[in-house]
Order: sequence, then C-alpha cells, then structure tokens
Amino acid sequence: MTLPTDPAENLAALIRCPSVTPDDAGALGALSQMLERLGAKIERPVFREDGTPDIENLYVRVGTKVPHLLFAGHTDVVPPGDEAAWTHPPFAAEIANGEMFGRGAVDMKGGIACFVAALARYHESHGAPAGSVSFLITGDEEGPAINGTVKLLEWARERGEAWDAALVGEPTNPDALGDMIKIGRRGSLSGTIVVHGRQGHVAYPHLADNPVRGLLMLVEALLEPPFDEGTADFQPTNLEVTSIDVGNTATNVIPGRATATFNVRFNDRWTPESLQAEIHNRLDRAAASSRLRPGCGDPVAFDIEWRDRPSSAFLTRDDRLIETLTASVAAVTGKRPQLSTSGGTSDARFIKDYCPVVEFGLVGQTMHMVDERAALSDLETLTRIYLRFLEDWFG
Ligand SMILES: [Zn+2]
Repeated sequence: MTLPTDPAENLAALIRCPSVTPDDAGALGALSQMLERLGAKIERPVFREDGTPDIENLYVRVGTKVPHLLFAGHTDVVPPGDEAAWTHPPFAAEIANGEMFGRGAVDMKGGIACFVAALARYHESHGAPAGSVSFLITGDEEGPAINGTVKLLEWARERGEAWDAALVGEPTNPDALGDMIKIGRRGSLSGTIVVHGRQGHVAYPHLADNPVRGLLMLVEALLEPPFDEGTADFQPTNLEVTSIDVGNTATNVIPGRATATFNVRFNDRWTPESLQAEIHNRLDRAAASSRLRPGCGDPVAFDIEWRDRPSSAFLTRDDRLIETLTASVAAVTGKRPQLSTSGGTSDARFIKDYCPVVEFGLVGQTMHMVDERAALSDLETLTRIYLRFLEDWFG
C-alpha cells in the first residue's frame, strides 16, 4: 500500500469533494482513506444541536505513546460564489501554470493535505513517531462553529485524550510561505445599543425625544479615546461600528428608537468582562450628559445587548513549540517568520483551553475568493516544513 506522501494528490482528492458548510460531500471519507494507509483508527462523531445542521467530524490518533501532538483544521469550505467567474471549476482541482485551483486550496484543505503528506513521509523514513500524532478535523469552521471543534475537543477529552501541543494549518502567510506564524489571536466582542426615544413631528421637537441625538453621543463615546495603545504582542484594541439602524423613511417624523451595532477586536489587556465594563462606563457617562431634546429633557435611556459568544484574546507561551516551528520554517525557506497575533479569530481560540497552540499554513491571498489556488511548489515546501517540525518536535 503506497503512503499518501504527495500533497498535491491529497489536496486534489479533498478539493473534488464540494464540502460547502454544512455538507461533508465525502471530504472526511477522502481524508480517512489517506489516514487509514498510515494504520490509523478513524473515528467520525456526528454532533447535533437544535436549530443547527448536523455536522460530521473526524478524530484520528496515530500512535499510543506521549508526547502527543495535535493537528487541527477543517474540511468545510465557503461557497464558490459565481462558478462561471472561475478560470477553472471550483471543485475540479485542475492545475495550470504550476497552481492547483479549487475552493479550499489554501483555506484549508491544502494545509491538511500537506500535513498528511509530511506524516506519511515521516513514517516512510523513520517509522512511527516516538509519541502520537492526532488529527482533529471538523466540517463546521466556516459555519456556526457549534457542532465542530468545541464539541470535538470535549468529546476527545471525555475519552481520555490529552495533548502536549497543537498545530493549526490555517493559511497564515500574507505574501509568501515563511512570512508569518500565529502565536495568539485577538479577542472579539459584539454588541447592539438601543436608544429609546419618543416618536413625534419634526416641527414640534419639544413634544418628542429624538433617539438619534443620543445614539450619536453614545457611539462617539465608544470611538474616542482609544481603548489602549496596543501591547508588546498585540495591535491596539479597535472598535468598529458595523451598523446604525433607525428604519425611518419619513423626513417629517422623529423616530421612536435607534440602534447601533459594533464589534471590538481586543488585545490581552482586556478580558470580555473587563471590556464590557469599560463600554458600560463610557455609555453611562455619555448618557448622563446627553439629551434627546434641544436644551432640556432627561438623560438618554438605552439598553445594550451583547451578541454572539465573545472570544478572549490569547497568547501562546510555549517557547519550545514556537521555536521548533520557527526553526523548521527557517531551515526550509531561509526566512525567520514573524510571530503574529493579527487577523481574525480561528478555532485556535477553542484549542488554547486544552494545550499550547500555534498556527502555520499556506499563503492566504486567495482564500474565500474566486480562483482560490495553491502553488504546487508551496504545497511541497509546506510539506517539508511540517516534516521538519515533526522530526524536531519528536526528536
Ligand atoms: Zn479556514
């Protein structure tokens, strides 16, 4: 039986499964076939929750000993959009000019294909690692993320699984392979402010309370001053107002209520709780000094509703893990990668509660775009980096 040592072959098999969240479309089956060739026992738990689609997941442990390395990722992909706009069909894995085209090529079937190839090459040249390597792969990263990594980690822990370190294969490099390793992520917090007014005629403002006046003052209090200047490892905390909604189509009516929604990406100076408290303080102060009528009236009455689940900022402090990966990247590419906490959230935010986690994968430039594609040379280079990492981490 030949081992799955060719990352391009592995990736083509995965791309040909149109696994747009929440459909698996055979993607985890294709991955299982590769991993079975390494002698692994495949587990495929399906998680369910009311109001969300059932999701297929995969957990595979190769080996029984410690240390135990976890490789985490997802086989689901975002929709291709207008398929006619693609130069090559999104689920055909066609190769042109040294690049493989397909949805998920870089985000992140490519990372999985390379890690499988690296582990297969490790087996070919060294036999089984002096420890264990596990794959924790979900089909629910690009969707609601409810029946995916969170439940899979919990499920594995209940079976006695524990990991010493984790590597997530998301695309982390902005321009070229070797640019960037992610060693943490900012937190994310969203909320909606509702200002309550009193509807009326614009020509008689003394008989109404205009909630738009109050909302503008409250929003300004969130925008200035800045929350912080950033920290040694993180960018400054940033709040963006994502929507202001009044829904009033008449120019002669003062509306009865106004809302604003915002999202904050925050650094390790804050927890979701301390940031919520700061936002409450700013809003309370602004509300006390603002009025909904010219010259008079009561302080602004508002509610705030916190949306989604906030996620905390985190920073990985496992020097050996970070240095081993950095050295592997440098050995293969000749570049020392930047250690970064930039960008959006990833499933690493869930894994960090179980073990130290770092992220390194392909170049992210075409992710989620039409003509998503990975250079075959990058697939080979990433496979070598992962192989080197396996050799050094277990060495
Ligand atoms: Zn991804």
